[in-house]
Order: sequence, then structure tokens, then C-alpha cells
Amino acid sequence: MALSTDFGPATALSCRECGTRFDVGPNFACIECFGPLEVAYEFGNVTRADIESGPTNIWRYRGLLPVPDDVATKPNLQPGWTKLVKADNLAGELGMRSLYVKDDSGNPTHSFKDRVVAIAVEAARNFGFSTLSCSSTGNLAGAVGAAAARAGLDSCVFVPANLEEAKIVVASVYGGRLVGIDGTYDEVNRFCSELIGDELGEKWGFVNVNLRPYYAEGSKTLAYEIAEQLGWRIPDQIVIPVASGSQLTKIDKGFKELIRLGLVEEKEYRIFAAQATGCAPVSAAYKAGHDVVQPVRPDTIAKSLAIGNPADGPYVLDIARRTGGAVEDVSDREIVAAVRLLARTEGVFAETAGGVVLGVTQKLLENGKLDPDAETVILNTGEGLKTLDAVSAEARPAAVIRPSLDAFRTAFAN
Ligand SMILES: *Cc1c(COP(=O)(O)O)cnc(C)c1O
Ligand SMILES: [Zn+2]
Repeated sequence: MALSTDFGPATALSCRECGTRFDVGPNFACIECFGPLEVAYEFGNVTRADIESGPTNIWRYRGLLPVPDDVATKPNLQPGWTKLVKADNLAGELGMRSLYVKDDSGNPTHSFKDRVVAIAVEAARNFGFSTLSCSSTGNLAGAVGAAAARAGLDSCVFVPANLEEAKIVVASVYGGRLVGIDGTYDEVNRFCSELIGDELGEKWGFVNVNLRPYYAEGSKTLAYEIAEQLGWRIPDQIVIPVASGSQLTKIDKGFKELIRLGLVEEKEYRIFAAQATGCAPVSAAYKAGHDVVQPVRPDTIAKSLAIGNPADGPYVLDIARRTGGAVEDVSDREIVAAVRLLARTEGVFAETAGGVVLGVTQKLLENGKLDPDAETVILNTGEGLKTLDAVSAEARPAAVIRPSLDAFRTAFAN
């Protein structure tokens, strides 16, 4: 079968487990071994100069993604190129020498999910899907709703009904259909798999199911941006939140591609994975020395990370072990403290997932697994305004007074 040139440098899908190759298509599981499929490429000659002269969004890396060359001219949200904040104040408090926060709250719908959805939209266009769908822990639903609106597609997204209010609103405001399901994310996800097999849903592009190989590639852009923003250098250490584990595995893939293409110098880097204790199946397996991840029932304020049966969990374990990293988890109380610490030191208001990453960073420093002298990047993948409840009891006015000098002096006399 002739390959479509609309997928840019992507030439095939390849099974992550057994390596069997398939044509580029709306498939996600290997028919030989049921392993997950990944996009395989034949890259052209991509130089730093090509990338640097590209648009200030993820399309500057289009030569490394499964998208057409003219992707930047199509109607999409143009996510990415978010700030890499040099976090000297926070580094000082933590006793670290060189610390950066990659702040993905700066994306169009205020989470890193805009990156992955942008790639899935291009795949949906190529395959002729007119409805975009997903199972979501919240942020993905909003990203799909907005991206579908911009691209002129219909959307129908599925979430656990007990999500944060802001995420419900963001996922509905763009005019697509939002369906709340009485159940956990894992139950929503199972339902979506059934829906894909049914004629009701078989014409739909589920960004994280039948478009998952393409969707997942969007996370590589985090690796590319971090390296480019550091002056074409991979950091020594990186701390990444884990829900399904897709983002973490693709950041590793992105770093490896940069090395293979000679865009950065070859170096060793260590990847650390962060979970909330209330949903820590990968961390539990890591600590027990297991290769298999036992599913759990989530109970944590970090709802965007509340996936009890993470599809890429075993790969996260592999990568943490192979690179000399680790997997760690923190309690809800530690998450809230970390959200406030990041806000107080750097003026960055993270959602609970960002609190998980910083909390885990602190814990890894305490137990000696993270080197305080090595160049470190931590991710904030979402926006604090979406998880206000986590801090609203503690972040209050210093006083409420009448508008008079006397009242102010009385309240703040010292
Ligand atoms: C979805 C999400 C993640 C993790 O994504 P996975 O690729 O499923 O591990 C991290 N942070 C936020 C804010 C998210 O919404
Ligand atoms: Zn296979």
C-alpha cells in the first residue's frame, strides 16, 4: 500500500513489544502480540537552523512529527513553546544549583494536553474522522473541545463526573458534547474502548485510543523545547508526572531522537517519575522491585493524574531504572504545600499535578536520589486556576477591612 505523504516523516507504525511494522493508519494495538503501536520515521536532514527559523510553537519541530509540512497554516491552536523558567529562588530554598520549571500552563487550554491533541487532530483530518473524542481525567477533554472547535470538527468527550468544577466548564464551553460518567477514569476508558467497537463510535477519532500512536508523539515536543531552550543541551535530570505514563516515555524518546540526529551532544540523563500517593501504582511497583504494575482505585486531589491502571506503567519503570532515575510519590498534604511553595518562590501557580512533581522533587532530594548539583528540569503540566479547591482553604485575604487608613493601621499594627 502506498504511504500517505500527509504524515510528513512518519513511514509506519511499529509494535513497541515485537517490532512488527504496519502501515500508517488508525490502529493502536499490534495484531500479533497486542503490544502498543508507535510511529516510526525516516527523518530528513533536520538542522538546528531549520528549527530555529520555524514558528514559535510545536510546529517548529514538524520535521520530527507525523504531520504534513504545511501544518502550521492549518486551523489549529498552535500550542507549545512555553516558558522554561530559571527557578533560582526555588533552587535556593531547595539547596539546588541549577533548576528550571518548564511551565506548560502557558498552553492554549492551560495544560500540556494541547500538544498531544494538536497531533491527533492532524491524524483525524488525514483519516477523515469528523468527530474527535476521548476519555479524560479533565485536561484532555478541554484540549479536545477547543482543538475541535478551531479545526471545525465535532467533539464528544467522556470524563469521570466528579471532576473539578473548572475542568467541567473548560471541557464544555467550546460547544462540543461533554459526557460525565459515574465512575473512575479507568471505567470511563473501558467504556470508550467498548464504544469504539460499536457502530456508534467507530467513525470517531478517539485521540487517546485509536489515534493514540499519533497523540502520544506530541509529548516529544516537551523534550525538544527543553533541550533547545537550554541552548541545545539535554538536562542532567528531569522530573515528570505520571498518569498513563505516555508523556514520560515520549520525552525519553524525544531526547534519544535529538541525540541520534546530532541536534544535541550525546549524554546520560536521568528520568524521575512523580505520582500522588493516592494513585501510585507505578511508584508502588518501583519500590517493590516489580516489572508488573498492579492497578489501584485512585483517591487523590491530583485528579489529572488519577489513572489507576496506567497503560505505559511498565515502560515508565523501565526508563526510570535504565536511566538511573527513580519513581516516587507524595501525599495530598505534600502536594498542596508544594503548590504553595512554587507560587511563593517563582510566581507560578501550578495545578495539583505540578504540586506532585515539586513535592516528589523535594522527597528525592531528601532521600538522596536527586543530585542537588546537577542541572534539573521539573515540569508544571497544568494551571492552578483549574484546581482552586486544593489551596482555597489556605490562600485567603490577610484581612477584610473598611476602606480607611485607621482600619488598615489597626489590622496591621506591629
Ligand atoms: C494528562 C496529564 C499528565 C500526564 O499524562 P500521561 O501522559 O497520561 O502520563 C500530567 N499532567 C497533567 C496536568 C495532565 O493533564
Ligand atoms: Zn507486537
